[in-house]
Amino acid sequence: MDCIEIRELEVYCHHGVFKEENVLGQKFLVSLILYTDTKMAGVSDDLEQSIDYAKVSHFVKERMEEKNFKLIEAAAEYVAEKVLLSFPLIQRIQVEIKKPWAPILLPLETVGVTIERGWTKVYLSIGSNMGNREEHLRTALERLQRERTIRGIRVSDCMETEPYGYLEQDSFLNAAVELETIESPDSLLKILHKIETEGGRERTIHWGPRTIDLDIVLFGDVIMQTETLTIPHREMHLREFVLRPLAQLAPWASHPVYHKTVSELWEQMSQNNTKGRNETDD
Ligand code: ATP
Ligand code: CA
Ligand code: CA
Repeated sequence: MDCIEIRELEVYCHHGVFKEENVLGQKFLVSLILYTDTKMAGVSDDLEQSIDYAKVSHFVKERMEEKNFKLIEAAAEYVAEKVLLSFPLIQRIQVEIKKPWAPILLPLETVGVTIERGWTKVYLSIGSNMGNREEHLRTALERLQRERTIRGIRVSDCMETEPYGYLEQDSFLNAAVELETIESPDSLLKILHKIETEGGRERTIHWGPRTIDLDIVLFGDVIMQTETLTIPHREMHLREFVLRPLAQLAPWASHPVYHKTVSELWEQMSQNNTKGRNETDD
């Protein structure tokens, strides 16, 4: 991706673990790489179509000065989030913060930290099979919309599907959701859990009836497995209620483990189901 670079912007502020640092302050050097598509600006030669690096530089200076962090890691995190939220054309950002006067009683040039953050495209599967199912889905979408670290929400049609796993329950209303977020997978999961709780979700029977269920299906091309989170969702390629709405919304989204598009996974699943049914018929 194209980028705009701001190198070693000098700011004087008061971050640090030592009291002296907080009182006296010191010099920090902030470097930014702003990943963005510069094609439109390149063709039109119009600043409106690009990122005004003067504005970004002043903005970053103000953000660096308005808070006192102990760690430059925290300052970098703060700057990255604020820039991404305020300059929508910036898709990703690299923030480097260096301290040339770090008080470690040894000669050194600088110490520093570099982080990269950005907007990631995410697909969710949402479902409800209790009470007013449309209302539960609508409310959950409104709550997602309100999150400031989430943008660009698109939703598939709602589709009626049969229960999965635990069959003694009412049918589901399911949909797929596309969004962009600057959250990490873990922090996005926390937001989804909060929305589930606000939507009256109680965890009783696994795969049992629920007012609202929000699962992360794909998170960019992230592949991860921890105790609390598996991405891509471990059963997405086996579930009609995930693939059917997702194939409508994002047929070309790619599964980073199987290297297949959603449309291919959906076709493969439909064929397997038809084969299974024919074999039972024989
Ligand atoms: P399933 O995940 O098979 O659809 P479920 O949605 O009914 O089942 P829940 O009770 O909603 O299961 O979630 C149980 C736990 O699954 C969550 O607390 C979460 O930590 C974990 N989990 C693992 N991977 C994911 C994921 N990709 N999206 C959401 N939750 C996940
Ligand atoms: Ca689920
Ligand atoms: Ca879930």
